[in-house]
Amino acid sequence: ADLRALLLSRIADVPDHPQPGVVFKDITPLLDDPAAFGALTEAFTDLCARYRVDKVVGLEARGFILAAPVALRAGVGFVPVRKAGKLPRATLRQGYELEYGTAEIEIHADALAPGERVLVIDDVLATGGTADAALQLIRRAGAEVAGVAVLLELGFLAGRERLEPGLKGAPLEAL
Ligand code: IMP
Repeated sequence: ADLRALLLSRIADVPDHPQPGVVFKDITPLLDDPAAFGALTEAFTDLCARYRVDKVVGLEARGFILAAPVALRAGVGFVPVRKAGKLPRATLRQGYELEYGTAEIEIHADALAPGERVLVIDDVLATGGTADAALQLIRRAGAEVAGVAVLLELGFLAGRERLEPGLKGAPLEAL
């Protein structure tokens, strides 16, 4: 409960960003507070131990910032999932639906080994489209989804429901 209050106190609401009617959750105050960033990192790292994670996947771009220190603390590798066209070597690519239009993300084809247990980390779960596409990439790479962990879940967007089939029983943790 203390962790939750600390984290929430370091997330700023930005009305009408990036467009009118949207309240953007800005995590930069949390990144700028070592006590809060450290507590978040520890909590994510605890999940790596609990779910016996072999690899941490971070989702571009804020997921990179949160996931990299977790991978180091947990003593496992960090793997980036990026927007299409950014990764330099052979990739697997996955499209998904946005509110308006579509998007594509990629992972290096050789980044995960068959059977490895992967924790996906991102800052915000909104509609769940991004995380769901990441789960598909991980399975296509032959790895196992150990879970999804986010700092913040926007419950009113029902991302948890969208993600549920793709989780296949793996946990979704919102800190
Ligand atoms: P989704 O695919 O709709 O779940 O959107 C999640 C992605 O968009 C994540 O990678 C987030 O970083 C980003 N995102 C959506 N809403 C916010 C927000 O309010 N603050 C920060 N990131 C957001």
